[in-house]
Amino acid sequence: MRRTKAMAKPTLNNLSKLLVCSSVILTLGCSQPAETSGSSEPNNAATPIWPKLDITVKKQPEIEKRIQQILQKMTLEQKVAQIIQPEIGDFTVEDMRRYGFGSYLNGGGSFPQSNKHATPADWIALAESMYQASVDDSLDGTKIPTMWGTDAVHGHNNVIGATLFPHNIGLGAANNPALIKEIAGVTAREVLVTGIDWIFAPTVATVRDDRWGRTYEGYSEDPEIVGKYSAAIVEGLQGAADDNFLGEGRVISSVKHFLGDGGTVDGDDQGNNISNEQRLFDIHAQGYVHGLTAGAQTVMASFNSWNGDKIHGNQYLLTNVLKERMGFDGLVVGDWNGHGQVAGCTNVSCAQSMNAGLDIFMVPTDAWKPLLENTLAQIQSGVIPMSRLDDAVTRILRVKLRAGLFDRPSPANRPLSGKTELIGSVEHREVAKQAVRESLVLLKNKNQLLPLSPNTKVLMAGDAADNIGKQSGGWTITWQGTGNENSDFPGGSSIYAGVKEAVNAAGGSVELAVNGEFTNKPDVAIVVFGEEPYAEGNGDLDNLEYQRGKKRDLALLRSLQEQGIPVVSVFITGRPLWVNPELNASDAFVAAWLPGSEGSAVADVLFTKVDGQIQYDFKGKLSFSWPKSPNQTRVNRFDAQYEPLLPYGFGLQYGDANFLPDTLSEDNESSSQQNLAALKIFDRSVQAPWKMALNQAGKRQAINSSVVALNTLNFETIDRRVQEDAFSLHWNESQEGQFVVYHDFPEDLRAYTETKGILRFDYQLKEKPSAEVYLQMGCMDVCESDLNINEHLKVDPSGNWQSIEVELSCFSGKGVDFAQVISPFAVRSSGNLSLSLSDISIQTQAIDTQAISCLN
Ligand code: BGC
Ligand code: BGC
Repeated sequence: MRRTKAMAKPTLNNLSKLLVCSSVILTLGCSQPAETSGSSEPNNAATPIWPKLDITVKKQPEIEKRIQQILQKMTLEQKVAQIIQPEIGDFTVEDMRRYGFGSYLNGGGSFPQSNKHATPADWIALAESMYQASVDDSLDGTKIPTMWGTDAVHGHNNVIGATLFPHNIGLGAANNPALIKEIAGVTAREVLVTGIDWIFAPTVATVRDDRWGRTYEGYSEDPEIVGKYSAAIVEGLQGAADDNFLGEGRVISSVKHFLGDGGTVDGDDQGNNISNEQRLFDIHAQGYVHGLTAGAQTVMASFNSWNGDKIHGNQYLLTNVLKERMGFDGLVVGDWNGHGQVAGCTNVSCAQSMNAGLDIFMVPTDAWKPLLENTLAQIQSGVIPMSRLDDAVTRILRVKLRAGLFDRPSPANRPLSGKTELIGSVEHREVAKQAVRESLVLLKNKNQLLPLSPNTKVLMAGDAADNIGKQSGGWTITWQGTGNENSDFPGGSSIYAGVKEAVNAAGGSVELAVNGEFTNKPDVAIVVFGEEPYAEGNGDLDNLEYQRGKKRDLALLRSLQEQGIPVVSVFITGRPLWVNPELNASDAFVAAWLPGSEGSAVADVLFTKVDGQIQYDFKGKLSFSWPKSPNQTRVNRFDAQYEPLLPYGFGLQYGDANFLPDTLSEDNESSSQQNLAALKIFDRSVQAPWKMALNQAGKRQAINSSVVALNTLNFETIDRRVQEDAFSLHWNESQEGQFVVYHDFPEDLRAYTETKGILRFDYQLKEKPSAEVYLQMGCMDVCESDLNINEHLKVDPSGNWQSIEVELSCFSGKGVDFAQVISPFAVRSSGNLSLSLSDISIQTQAIDTQAISCLN
């Protein structure tokens, strides 16, 4: 469950700041400049916890001189354009010509011409036109080349046909820095083929709570591997300081997300990290210590907060610690409208971020234009000091000059560009296959069932057996990694494909039956199953139980075992999950993580050669401890009460004695239920992370003020007990309208269905509605459910407030998947209706006995 901290309201103190600098809209941080980094004086404000790094890439006088020459000639507008990074879906080549943005990005699942099947030539064509527009000085008067950044986080994962490596959690299990460096080199080359300059990787989060949806983007729960890898991958992407640094075949890297993303309370994505400063350094900063020392040129600021303050506005960390103390001289790029989350900021205005030390605003959506204009105004009025802008532009130019962007040919004419044979080449895929083999961790091997002889009758079951999309996880072609078919991975292979090849070659046979219903009784079943793909907050969980409440795969494993068939489980997952029942129902169990496009390599480890010789033994060792209960979500080595099911570093090899019995506890009693608090949805105001909106004729109008009026439906806040602690909705019978409370990411609310929870709200209704009124909940995809509540709404002409409680099971009965609730409350009608509402919540159990029963 996400428990995001509410955005701070403007305090008296903030408001007075606003008055002092009232010339600029929405800039609450305007008293900060005096304390900022604009000056070149080193600031010793950082505590001694932070080291001065011995960064291997040193300043070069010629480059510094050139920066100054360029900077001197730049106009204010040209400088501001350098710090704005729009997204390819929301600006045009003509915008680039007009403004000359310093950089731009494509987000996850964003392609040239919005075409998922865009070819490398389409990518290059876009890169080339953007570049040419940036160096065309006819409108903006400048020839500074732009640069393109992309999330190549496990290979060049937005591009069809690219080599997709295991996600970082699997690479962590491989614990092989030399291999990581090679992977980075391959990724850099495939990215360069498409004309792109900059990669938003590596993620160097040290993940401390496996409920976090980005756990798989982290290498380990322990900074040990994170630190080593960070240096290796940065050197693989950029080249080491003494090894063709940012020369041919190299791209700019970004260590992200600075700082503390892996350590938020409850593993909440974009949440709050409350570590003390020493722990922030020891646990969460090690990827930066090593990655920056190796010369990483960019750092991405994180969405999360540290002790309640969003990092995007944290001058201490961005400037005093990172730039001044640690000595980072590259640039800090923001995350996806992350500046808009800073208290007092919006997506279109945030002097605080710049003043805190952000050098580039990542500003997707059409917010880029007003942000550019507002930032310009803030510099003109002095809210952002000119010295701060100059510092940001200096850093951007430094990175561009170091990367040779001013001297290299245009994207279409660079040595690797257009060499499409490199994308997904056999050599590249070989590197990925090695990574797959080395990342597999053998958790159980009863009776030495593995390795298997290829000359056998094999059943392949489970919905991940022949599913390259599922085995690749999030950040795979699309942002969430959903919606892909095997045909979207030309040159890639499923796990089934590899098994089939090995077994057929040896004279055995393979039958593929996802649901396990074979026609020929097999000698052994390989069942490949696991998590559906997800990215970022969409993957947040509230406990670690696999297939909680719907143990479909367990039923499959058991039914095979009951028929006397030995079962090898291959578990596809972005994190360790509580799978005790599945472990008990398996003879062998392999954690395969998210192997990526080269599924066939799994068979290389599971099967011997025809002559019985082992081809590849297991090498992977857990870089995350494995939980022994659904609520052991923060099981990290060296923690005070460290009692995992399987410890950090665990991983069997062939010949090792089996360790796990078949009798692991299957008690999934969720202790979190005992402490489960009511979930407030509207309590005086709408509660984070929820937002409110009105929907009419397919259009959504966000509710951001006390009165919002559409043709059909009006919203206005009213006072019930205190100011604005309730609101009324008026439908006027013209057409259908909906009031909705929603969130962009689904929430896992299963804990409430398990306690037999209810949805409760207070209402005031003075007149009978003229048409049906529906109460709704919605989850991901299409699972909106309607409950007609007319019978239950009681009219009270004198306006007394009343309560309704609805059992959550009514909604589950209508198809709501409580694992993924997008909207916990909505009301729809097309009648004449005035309804006031307050105190909307989900309670763990009924408070009144009047809960609506769904039997009628
Ligand atoms: C993610 C970043 C990513 C960026 C651009 C954000 O939502 O947090 O990791 O680099 O989007 O796609
Ligand atoms: C983009 C991602 C981005 C995310 C952030 C998506 O629409 O494609 O790149 O990370 O939004 O919310």
